[in-house]
Amino acid sequence: MKVVVLSGGVGGARFTRGLLAHLGPGHEVTVVANTGDDLWLHGVRVCPDLDTLMYTLGGAVHEGQGWGRADESTRVSTDLAAYGLGWDWFTLGDLDLATCLARTELLRGGLPLSAATDRLAQRWDLGVRLLPMTDAEVETHARLADGTLLHFEEWWVRHHATLPAVGFEQVGLSGSVAAPGVVEALVSADVVVLPPSNPVVSVGTILAVPGVREAITSTPAPVVGVSPIIGGAPVRGMADACLTAIGVPTTASAVARHYGLRRTGGLLDAWVVDDADAASVPGLREHGLVCGATDTLMRDVASTARIAAFALDLVGPVPSAG
Ligand code: GDP
Ligand code: CA
Repeated sequence: MKVVVLSGGVGGARFTRGLLAHLGPGHEVTVVANTGDDLWLHGVRVCPDLDTLMYTLGGAVHEGQGWGRADESTRVSTDLAAYGLGWDWFTLGDLDLATCLARTELLRGGLPLSAATDRLAQRWDLGVRLLPMTDAEVETHARLADGTLLHFEEWWVRHHATLPAVGFEQVGLSGSVAAPGVVEALVSADVVVLPPSNPVVSVGTILAVPGVREAITSTPAPVVGVSPIIGGAPVRGMADACLTAIGVPTTASAVARHYGLRRTGGLLDAWVVDDADAASVPGLREHGLVCGATDTLMRDVASTARIAAFALDLVGPVPSAG
């Protein structure tokens, strides 16, 4: 079975780890990662979501934090801060920096981001094909009420999404194309999954890349999503601020309606909500979605595998491997 996941960082990475545990060997999983959070810092290319995916699936993530490396240190960034350079509010650990240095060397050597990512992934046993959404430098910016554009990381990490945003812009998007393999994976998939990633600045950014939305609306594969919103709030992070910025209420049902029904030009065939939002299931079914409620809190790999199984079951049984 060929599965494609459109992923942000922590939510998407944890979901994908559970999906792999559920599927077992013999299946082909492609992860298309958001790269809108990427930035140049201290002369190196930082790709937060790609690296969260790489560390999580590679077994090297800092579990408590959900991103970055376990056993990390920050000697380099602490010393850089002593020069008053860079962004002192953005933590780049020493091991994380090694990843970014390696990536930058590959990019400087002429490789596109997709090839550099593939090269970095060879070190880890990810169990997936990891693709950036695009090879172009597309960076998400928050638009503030006065028209100012702030790099997403500055808005999110430095200001904790407290500066009211009125929308998001992907700087560098025009003229960009999906990375090699992205559209091909979507149109030849058996199932496409929108994991519980941020619907606006993770999944929404991937969907903005020319060709991606069209590939999802036209693929013969069913598309199933898992709500990142439980009981009217994000599980972690500030997705509510992102949803508010684009005028979508922070509810599981509103996010499903925002993604839209594939039959009517949207993205979803099926949608998984948490048990806490079970009351929204009849309305969503009436809307035309295949919909079910389950416990969607990703406590560990086993509980996440059950969520993945539930999502795949909504769109049909998983054929056995081979
Ligand atoms: P980021 O790039 O690191 O912000 O990660 P993602 O965009 O992939 O995922 C962030 C989203 O994951 C947030 O909106 C959270 O609400 C959601 N999330 C995190 N943990 C869980 C969980 O255990 N269950 C569900 N349903 N959603 C979660
Ligand atoms: Ca992210």
